[in-house]
Amino acid sequence: MARFSNKVAIVTGSSSGIGRSTAVLLAREGAKVTVTGRSSEKLRDTVDEILKNGGKSEDINIVVGDLTESECQDDLVKSTLERFGKIDILVNNAGAAFADPSGVIGIATNINLFDDMLKLNLRSVVELVQKCRSHLIASKGDIVNVSSIAAGPQPFVYYTFYGIAKAGLDQLTRSLAIELIAHGVRVNSVSPGLISTGFLTAVGMPNKMARKTENYYASHRDCIPAGRPGTPEEIATLIAFLADKNSSGFIIGQSIVIDGGTSLALAMPSHDLSKAL
Ligand code: NDP
Repeated sequence: MARFSNKVAIVTGSSSGIGRSTAVLLAREGAKVTVTGRSSEKLRDTVDEILKNGGKSEDINIVVGDLTESECQDDLVKSTLERFGKIDILVNNAGAAFADPSGVIGIATNINLFDDMLKLNLRSVVELVQKCRSHLIASKGDIVNVSSIAAGPQPFVYYTFYGIAKAGLDQLTRSLAIELIAHGVRVNSVSPGLISTGFLTAVGMPNKMARKTENYYASHRDCIPAGRPGTPEEIATLIAFLADKNSSGFIIGQSIVIDGGTSLALAMPSHDLSKAL
């Protein structure tokens, strides 16, 4: 029997990148999935990929909408229950870092950016978990949040507000994990480093600049010791592991870093002192 047979999953932000790969993987391994995002066109590509990988159209529920809006969250829960009767797995993956259009970085950016960043990356997760809570308790389900190494402990000056939101998400993961394990629901999280997805274009970079940025970091081993960005499939594999009680049933409230070594790479030890002294 496939690993996720008889399981029902909601994967937010599944019109692209990590969310799409996760929806494809869960569906390939037997899950019924609700896919969602704002772009119906990109969601159609996700559905095509699920079908190409052996998924069945009757096992796919599509919700087009903005996750920061209450109606979209309600629709996600309601339509999943109507189509599939329960919710076993909630992957809170939708997220983004917005750039200040003026090019300003750090704390000097417009305060509206702070609100927008928290609304998508943190508040929408809180709201969706509130709405799924009783259903996940009924199924003794699993939640996997998608955080980031931008949450710290090292600061990411380009992404101050985004990092604050993801740090909040990490604390939410820990608090929820303790609250919900009493009801048989596990909560865990993944913290990716640089992954090749639509993330940098969503930040505001043209496609060519996004790829150039990835190549730059990949070629500097003090940025990514593994020498390459990660793939969405690699993150999906970890998310599926954390969503599967048989594999990870004793892991509770953890944020697992998956970053090719980025968060271990301190600048001091990477400098060759023999050249300087
Ligand atoms: P992508 O831009 O490829 O995917 C982001 C997804 O989120 C899309 O499906 C997008 O859908 C959805 N989304 C964004 N805003 C909204 C919204 N308001 N309402 C509904 N859906 C929304 O990036 P990734 O796959 O990389 O991002 C997935 C997660 O991984 C995010 O939480 C991100 O913060 C995190 N992450 C990514 C890293 C990376 O280097 N790529 C590193 C660390 C963490 P649509 O555009 O259709 O609305």
